[in-house]
Amino acid sequence: MANLSYYGDERKEFQEEFKKELPNLKAVRIIVGKLQKHFKLGDVDLDFTSGRNHSHASRWHITINVEQTNFGVICHELAHVFQARKLEHEAGDKWHTKKHKRIMKRMLAYCRKKNWFEVELGRRLAEKPFKPELTKEEQRAKRIKQLEIRKQSYTRKIKLSENRVRKLNRQISALKRFV
Ligand SMILES: [Zn+2]
Repeated sequence: MANLSYYGDERKEFQEEFKKELPNLKAVRIIVGKLQKHFKLGDVDLDFTSGRNHSHASRWHITINVEQTNFGVICHELAHVFQARKLEHEAGDKWHTKKHKRIMKRMLAYCRKKNWFEVELGRRLAEKPFKPELTKEEQRAKRIKQLEIRKQSYTRKIKLSENRVRKLNRQISALKRFV
């Protein structure tokens, strides 16, 4: 339920956090996953909306407006999930309460403490390093190397079998001598 003065106060109090935009939707998924795990929220479905639709939340799921993918909005919605799941919230209870703000504050403090997950995001959003394609000649050399390795493994097995056969022959002839 919209509560304009609550939103206004919140945006003033967490000004900086509402400006901390995430670069893309994958990053939003990563952050929601991190917070969901740390605050033990259980499964949280995440989807997106756009245009004039507001971000919103329910007990099992949050919807984020793609034009507002910042830490303020994400923690606001996840704090609702926390209320619904962990605080015996009942139908008809108010959502935008001091409790909600307190939870949101805790979540934002955690994000700040984790340095906004910058390292994690950097690592997981990084492009895979470019691997130059092998030339025909290099491909051939690589294939030969693979086959050599397989051959070695079979050669080892042959030697092992030969040793075993020799050992068995020795045992057999030793026994025959005493017939
Ligand atoms: Zn709300």
